[in-house]
Amino acid sequence: LNSAKQQGLPLAIYQSGQDESHQRELTIIRDLPFALSSGQMFIAYQPKVDIVAQQAISAEALIRWQHPQLGFISPVEFILLAERSGNISLISNWMLQKVISQLASWLPMHPELCVAVNLSADDLLDEQLPIRITSWLAAQQVPVSALSLEVTESAVMQDTAKAINNLQQLKNTGIKLAIDDFGTGQSSLAYLKSLPVHEVKIDRAFIKDIEHNEQDELIVQATAKLAAGLGLRVTAEGLENQAGLSRVLAAGCQQVQGYYFSKPLAAEAFSNWLNDFAVEKAHYFTAATDPA
Ligand code: C2E
Ligand code: MG
Ligand code: MG
Ligand code: MG
Repeated sequence: LNSAKQQGLPLAIYQSGQDESHQRELTIIRDLPFALSSGQMFIAYQPKVDIVAQQAISAEALIRWQHPQLGFISPVEFILLAERSGNISLISNWMLQKVISQLASWLPMHPELCVAVNLSADDLLDEQLPIRITSWLAAQQVPVSALSLEVTESAVMQDTAKAINNLQQLKNTGIKLAIDDFGTGQSSLAYLKSLPVHEVKIDRAFIKDIEHNEQDELIVQATAKLAAGLGLRVTAEGLENQAGLSRVLAAGCQQVQGYYFSKPLAAEAFSNWLNDFAVEKAHYFTAATDPA
């Protein structure tokens, strides 16, 4: 808009809110490739806690964008635009390479650490992806066990046969796979059987009010029971308080990712958090596991 003013262009055509948001979308799509190569993007790591073993050895890597003019842009906004404009593989490849080199520096101190990267529908159709990932891992001497990948049900649904085939290739390499945002897609619970995954992440929608909402609690219990029966790990996403922790523990979830334990953190803060957790973990669990 400013440049339109400076160039003396007629302002009328920019005035509706729709045009403004269209302009913003175009700016985001245009700036994305340069943002990746110029340090505007960085990665936040959110801890995932094993609430049964009371251990923290994994995390999810989440992309962050500090745009010079637009400020902080949520991944909810720009990931969708990257997907629509055919640019998502730029982000996925950037994330994978950055996370793998970060792992190479963390693993000597935290040998059991596993970090998850989110993939999109297009990545699941890229037949070269498994070989690319394994060669990046090999180049940094990072074991496949240190990386996991998250995909949503809807990403798998885009081209189910091809996606499942590619997921199987990834699984064959030894990389662990998780279904993300479980319960929000169109698929049924039975569908889990045909997906070559290790983990189910129950969407925050069912977790955020679990201590007040009996239906959510029932859904989480049923999902956890079924997933455990199929030999899958179950993660509760978006847990924010201790009352919720007792519910998801009782429901049979093994892992929790949520603000209750930590928000997503910059790399250095995350490694400090891991060290602090080892010392202070008792305070997260005492009240939650006490018989009330
Ligand atoms: P997601 O993969 O389901 O990631 C979890 C989101 O929930 C993150 O939002 C995280 O900050 C947020 N979250 C975690 N715990 C809590 C909680 O206790 N309360 C609340 N209110 N929120 C919580 P974020 O980082 O904004 O990412 C949003 C979505 O953007 C992600 O959802 C994922 O779908 C996508 N995304 C982020 N980074 C990437 C990426 O590198 N590649 C792709 N393809 N998608 C990404
Ligand atoms: Mg995710
Ligand atoms: Mg999720
Ligand atoms: Mg999500």
